[in-house]
Amino acid sequence: MERESHNEQETIAELQRKVDELERYLAAATDQRENIVVTQKLTKIYGKGATRVAALKEVDLKVRKGEFIAVQGPSGSGKTTLLNMLGALDRPTRGRVFIDGIETSGIPERRLYQIRREKVGFIFQTYYLVPTLNALQNVLTPVLPLKGSKRYEKRAVRLLELVGLKDRMHHKPGELSGGEQQRVAIARALILNPGVILADEPTGNLDTKTGAEIIELMHRLNEKREKTFIIVTHDHRIAESAERVLYLMDGKLSDVPTEAD
Ligand code: ADP
Ligand code: MG
Repeated sequence: MERESHNEQETIAELQRKVDELERYLAAATDQRENIVVTQKLTKIYGKGATRVAALKEVDLKVRKGEFIAVQGPSGSGKTTLLNMLGALDRPTRGRVFIDGIETSGIPERRLYQIRREKVGFIFQTYYLVPTLNALQNVLTPVLPLKGSKRYEKRAVRLLELVGLKDRMHHKPGELSGGEQQRVAIARALILNPGVILADEPTGNLDTKTGAEIIELMHRLNEKREKTFIIVTHDHRIAESAERVLYLMDGKLSDVPTEAD
């Protein structure tokens, strides 16, 4: 009799564990449906022993589709590392990353490449355009490995028009101003119609006026095309015009500014 009730208790405990597990699973599924970017306890550690650096420490982040977010923080606080993790350019040490409902932490490299290309667009401070290619060819570089890349040409032309470079399509980067080069980079980021744009100091190399134009363009893409923006920036104008500002300090993410140690 005693034995039986012991078994019964074990069965109940087992059932309770299953219910808890299911609840966690459902909560995670809901999160991923409502949020285009989710991280859970995202941790990145570089190096070992004396050179060990914890660049991100258990970062929990939820970004809704269509949000315009600025990320601020001092140099070395983990901003670029965070973007690299969100864009699947590098793998977390621990924790999970979901982009558009797909868990990118833990999937094979080959598939990761595809997700990187289709789900996210990158914009960098220094543009990273190919100097020997003209604007149109640069916008097309993400689709070059794809079959039927020809059919993207019309789209590339439309995107260059959208960013205000109708008359500059056949210019090479060296023949374009910094602001124009960044516009090419933005058109390139949009070629595969990703939901999320990740930007690392997009106005960092631009003068005040040109920077303002790039900010305006990003807001326009956010509003008209429902692109989600996550922008690492020191530019107070981006932070002031963002829907939400997040702060990184020593690898920890916070929604309130934290004092330096
Ligand atoms: P931020 O972009 O905010 O300046 P990073 O994300 O580039 O900061 O770097 C965060 C921390 O991780 C820094 O201490 C940096 O030195 C370290 N770090 C970044 N990348 C690497 C790497 N590839 N190898 C080792 N340490 C790195
Ligand atoms: Mg950085």
